[in-house]
Order: sequence, then structure tokens, then C-alpha cells
Amino acid sequence: MVDTDKLVVNTDAQRLEWVTLLTKASDFHYDMSGLHDEDEEVADVHRAWARAIHDAVLLIDMWELEETEIVVDPRPPAERATNVTDEVDKSAWVCKLCDKSTFETDYDYLAARDMHLECALKEEMKEEKNAKSK
Ligand SMILES: [Zn+2]
Repeated sequence: MVDTDKLVVNTDAQRLEWVTLLTKASDFHYDMSGLHDEDEEVADVHRAWARAIHDAVLLIDMWELEETEIVVDPRPPAERATNVTDEVDKSAWVCKLCDKSTFETDYDYLAARDMHLECALKEEMKEEKNAKSK
């Protein structure tokens, strides 16, 4: 099923071609209906064709010219950076034990986003020591 909202012609010239062609066809059927005055039924068929084609011309007039699709980014400019890593808040990637960045550290060496695995192990060992010394 064709989405009628999407009907487009690419150029005004193309639209004019269709309008001209169909207007001629519509005129032809009006003429034919006039030539068949004696046969009411044939005249009616031609008039119906003429009207239908005229309606088609009106539809073509309503078609929109296809324009380059403009994609609107609803985000504020500050959030539109293409490089996502630049947008990461590096302040969240700081080890709370040694205060050094965890941002460049491989996930394998992180206990958490804000804790190096090494620091976590050292802290654990320290706590164990403290527990023993008590
Ligand atoms: Zn650390």
C-alpha cells in the first residue's frame, strides 16, 4: 500500500508533464462526451472519465516536491559530539583508593569503575593485616 503522504514528484517540470498529459486526456473525454450527445450512456462514461482525470490533476497539484530530507537533532549542541569518548565524564573514572584515573585502565584490571583491581587487592590485604594485628 502506497503511503499517500509520501507521494512526490522530483521536479516541477515532471509535475507539469503529468498535468499537461492528464489535462489533455480529460479534455479529450469531455470532447468525446459532447460528440456522443445522442447516446446518453456513452456520453456519461466519457464525462466520468473526464472528471476522474481532472481529479487526478488536482491530486498531482497537491504532490510535494521532494526535498533533501532534513534531519533535526533534538539534542542541545553540547550533546551532539560525534566522538562519544570525548563526552564521557572522566571525573567518574577515578580510583577512590589511589585517586588516579581508571579511564585508560583495561576492564580486566578494574574492580569497579572507580577502583583499580590492584588497589582493591592492596586495600584488602591491608585490611587483613589490620584485622590480624588487632
Ligand atoms: Zn587505584
